Amino acid sequence: MPLVSTRQLLDEAAKGGYGVGAFNVNDMEQIQAIMEAAKETNSPVIIQASRGARAFAQDNYLYHLMLAAAELYPQIPLAMHLDHGNSFETCESAIKLGFTSVMMDGSLKPDGKTPATFEENVAVTKKVVDYAHERGISVEGEIGVLGGIEDGHGAGGSGLDHVTDPDQAVEFAELTGVDSLAIAIGTSHGAYKFTKKPDGSVLKMNLLIAIHNRLPKTHLVMHGSSSVPKDLQDIINQYGGKLKETWGVPVEEIQLGIKNGVRKINVDTDNRLAITGAIRKVFVESPEKFDPRDYMKPARAAMQKVVATRMVQFGQAGHAGDYTAISIADMAKGYANGSLSTKPLVAAK
Ligand SMILES: [Zn+2]
Repeated sequence: MPLVSTRQLLDEAAKGGYGVGAFNVNDMEQIQAIMEAAKETNSPVIIQASRGARAFAQDNYLYHLMLAAAELYPQIPLAMHLDHGNSFETCESAIKLGFTSVMMDGSLKPDGKTPATFEENVAVTKKVVDYAHERGISVEGEIGVLGGIEDGHGAGGSGLDHVTDPDQAVEFAELTGVDSLAIAIGTSHGAYKFTKKPDGSVLKMNLLIAIHNRLPKTHLVMHGSSSVPKDLQDIINQYGGKLKETWGVPVEEIQLGIKNGVRKINVDTDNRLAITGAIRKVFVESPEKFDPRDYMKPARAAMQKVVATRMVQFGQAGHAGDYTAISIADMAKGYANGSLSTKPLVAAK
């Protein structure tokens, strides 16, 4: 299957009542791990790259690795997504390269750190939407500001500093015409999300439900949604790592989100933990080894296991064969003729 639009994946997920994991990559082994997990579980999937990943890997390497993935797994609907675009120019360059969807994170100023005003967010997001839809590319916006920092991007601080206001979410969706909406409900980027198992005082699932009730047809996106499982932390620390005790977003909370309009779930940290744990284990147990394949193979396998588990938990498993790809050119026609309208359905309070 050619690379498909994230919008199509999310529309199908809404029909089927499931969520789709969006997994971050920086290199070939991570792409391989995700595609093998998708094959193993027969799942549609979103692979995403941040600005940091694009700088690390170089755009052309990333793009051609993604093309290789699409070529090698023709049965898997696969979207290539830009995670946290910080400006119109970043999104434009991703679209020119061949990404099939972009996130314009206008919740922060272009420095990727300072919270932007609502008006600034609307203006830059709308500009990206107009440019992207004309080219058949779907757009994710963000309203409210996530906590933490990852890849140098983020406002830092707690995920509770700038949670999403439901009325603003409605206004933002109406003014921008985004295909999907990332919301801030207390989650943070990185491994250190919560200092204890999160309850309703730090992870605002009620807020998510309130937003979904106002925007019942809008695809919601959960960022910072690694679960940071204890067993992955333990492997790292058992083999010489020094992770401090930490908690992520419990899978059952994500599943509650999926019942309430969440269609895209971003996961990065869990895979980083799995890779690091596997590599540390080889280094400690077999210090005589020096062939990178001796540790990259188990690292890749460990990541595949995490991704496959999430695919089953999010409900996307088994759905790869439900539909055929709509070409990006046809997506552009759909945006132009209104069949892919992004005017949100707004329910009364
Ligand atoms: Zn994010």
